[in-house]
Amino acid sequence: MAVRGRRRWSACLGVAVLTVAGWIALGLTVHRGPVDLGSPGLWVYGSLVLLGEVLLASAPTHQSAINTSTVFALALLLRAGAPSAVLALATASLIANFVIRRSLVRAVTTVAVYSLALIAAGATMQVLAHGSVWTGVDRFRVGSLPAIAGVGLIFVFVGVSLDGLVDALLHDAPMLAGLQPFFGVEAIAAIAVMALAPVVDVAAKTSLALPPLLVLPLIAVQRTAAVSRAKEHQALHDVLTGLPNRALFRDRMHQAIAEARRSHRLIAVMVIDLDHFKEVNDTLGHHVGDLLLAQVGPRLAGCLRESDTVARLGGDEFGIVLPALLDSETAPKVAAKLLRALDQPFMVHGLELDVGASIGVTLFPEHGEDPDALLQRADVAMYQAKQQTGGFVVYALDRDPHSVGRLAMLTDLRRAVEEGQLTLFYQPKADLRTGQVIGVEALLRWRHPQRGLIQPGDFIPLAERTGLIQPIALWVLNEALAQTNLWRHEGLALSMAVNLSVRNVHDFAITEDLATLLERWEVPAHLLQLEVTESTIMHDPANAMAVLTTLDGMGLRLAIDDFGTGYSSLAYLKRLPVSELKIDKSFVIAMTTDESDAVIVRSTIELARNLGLRVVAEGVETAEAWNQLNALRCDVAQGFYLSPAVPAQALTDWMHRERRPELWLPGRNGSPASVVEE
Ligand code: C2E
Ligand code: MG
Ligand code: MG
Repeated sequence: MAVRGRRRWSACLGVAVLTVAGWIALGLTVHRGPVDLGSPGLWVYGSLVLLGEVLLASAPTHQSAINTSTVFALALLLRAGAPSAVLALATASLIANFVIRRSLVRAVTTVAVYSLALIAAGATMQVLAHGSVWTGVDRFRVGSLPAIAGVGLIFVFVGVSLDGLVDALLHDAPMLAGLQPFFGVEAIAAIAVMALAPVVDVAAKTSLALPPLLVLPLIAVQRTAAVSRAKEHQALHDVLTGLPNRALFRDRMHQAIAEARRSHRLIAVMVIDLDHFKEVNDTLGHHVGDLLLAQVGPRLAGCLRESDTVARLGGDEFGIVLPALLDSETAPKVAAKLLRALDQPFMVHGLELDVGASIGVTLFPEHGEDPDALLQRADVAMYQAKQQTGGFVVYALDRDPHSVGRLAMLTDLRRAVEEGQLTLFYQPKADLRTGQVIGVEALLRWRHPQRGLIQPGDFIPLAERTGLIQPIALWVLNEALAQTNLWRHEGLALSMAVNLSVRNVHDFAITEDLATLLERWEVPAHLLQLEVTESTIMHDPANAMAVLTTLDGMGLRLAIDDFGTGYSSLAYLKRLPVSELKIDKSFVIAMTTDESDAVIVRSTIELARNLGLRVVAEGVETAEAWNQLNALRCDVAQGFYLSPAVPAQALTDWMHRERRPELWLPGRNGSPASVVEE
């Protein structure tokens, strides 16, 4: 903070020095004279300069040093020298700023900048154009036109640079940003406008009534420049929110990176995704969604400095660049502040809407050296934040599914599918009342040649993000149905549950694949159950509904897995063609020790009953949990107390070894796992 405070002081000092220098130069120039206040020319020019300044000050955007007033000021410089030109422009600028009520600081600094620019142009005139800085150019020769063009350019260049410098110092913005207009459409307009200065002077020599006629073409040129500026603005801004779009955001990142390299600073890039925007859009309509989005930008900007950039990257995703940071601790603090701001409800049409957000953060140079890398990694971090149900995550290489280690794993995984390294384990599910094993859940394992047995949590997310999940799902379904068929031939009519990922559920092709597989393995559709999580469905509820309804129509049974961990809309749940709710194991494991978890389990069982769904408790680890669930009239149990997931053969052996294998009595028959251990 102390360092920031010092920077602000030195910035203020810089502006003060520049302003005082400008005003002293102005005073000395006017004092040195000559200024002929009785000259009608001075008054005509003065009025035109004033008109230009008023037009400029009332324009919606600040338009640097290129405008009608500066053309007449330049013409006056050529005609009567710096003292008259400086006096006219300074007076006009002060009056215009007073009329329009711009800030006093800005008015005072503008006068200083104008004066310095005119004096620099006057000096150039003396050196190049055979004129005098005090009295102007007597007579135009065609040969001196390039020199006069040089005078105009110096005027514009000094004016725009000093203006940019003041802006940068006052608003803590990058220094080069102020010079940007000098290279765009403005430069062409500036040259066109400045070329008129000698014409104004020649016309004035014929009659003082002629220069005012030039105001109209000047305004026309300016308007054209304003229109192209507006078009440029449109191409780089989002129409709905008015914020910079992705293209401009990348450009700002480039600028910030260049500046940070020079000054050995850091920059932070954030990707922000609203958590519940989709629900707002789906339930209240796009109109409300749009109004909500329009409020997000100002709220984010309210937590940031003027030099920071907020952009809309698309949909409900926003981007932020914090340039020139001194340490890596600022970014998490800002992210926390942004989250607090977004946690406050938004008011749209009198409705209070809670959305919340997830933020991913990356730092230059630590996490990437170019905009693409920084953005992509901020995206990865945001995705992780989302999976943790909100908050912010600062990118970490070891957690990135795309980092080098993970990439090697991806190559291995591709090979694993082709070379048969995947295998299925099966975990039995039992009827809580009778203890009868009624079915199994197929759980995927990867037998890695070097690393041994890998659990699904360590490779399924990678497969999901790369598209490998599709061939994997087909392999799992084929294998699970083949096993169901085998068990059926051995007289074991077990239902088979298979887990599906987001991509599988949103892919219509899976319905045809499933029909083929059921036919191939001669498995009745009702024996196959597909498990999907709440978040899988809520990812795109309409599409999920379409696919799930088709699967239901084929006679398959559907279950909602890990119930209670995601955000789901009860309205949707009611309409979904599901037949089973699986209470997430985290609640079941904790229910015997934590009253609030017990309450969740109890009310989920009630909810499922009311919706006419079968309810399964996952993660039953103890006899106590088993008995409690039985007392709560939960239908089915699955968990380590009965058995962990084991290879098919172990489960078969256990089933055959017991006299009544299908009737598992808690604490009596041992577990299929004991077969594996033997
Ligand atoms: P899930 O579908 O919720 O599977 C239940 C997970 O809980 C399994 O972990 C199982 O081993 C574990 N579990 C079962 N009983 C207990 C218990 O009493 N205590 C504890 N602490 N854990 C228990 P696993 O096999 O590591 O699978 C993790 C997740 O990976 C699964 O969660 C599922 O979402 C996903 N998964 C597994 N196989 C596949 C697959 O073939 N395709 C897809 N898309 N996902 C799969
Ligand atoms: Mg499951
Ligand atoms: Mg589960």
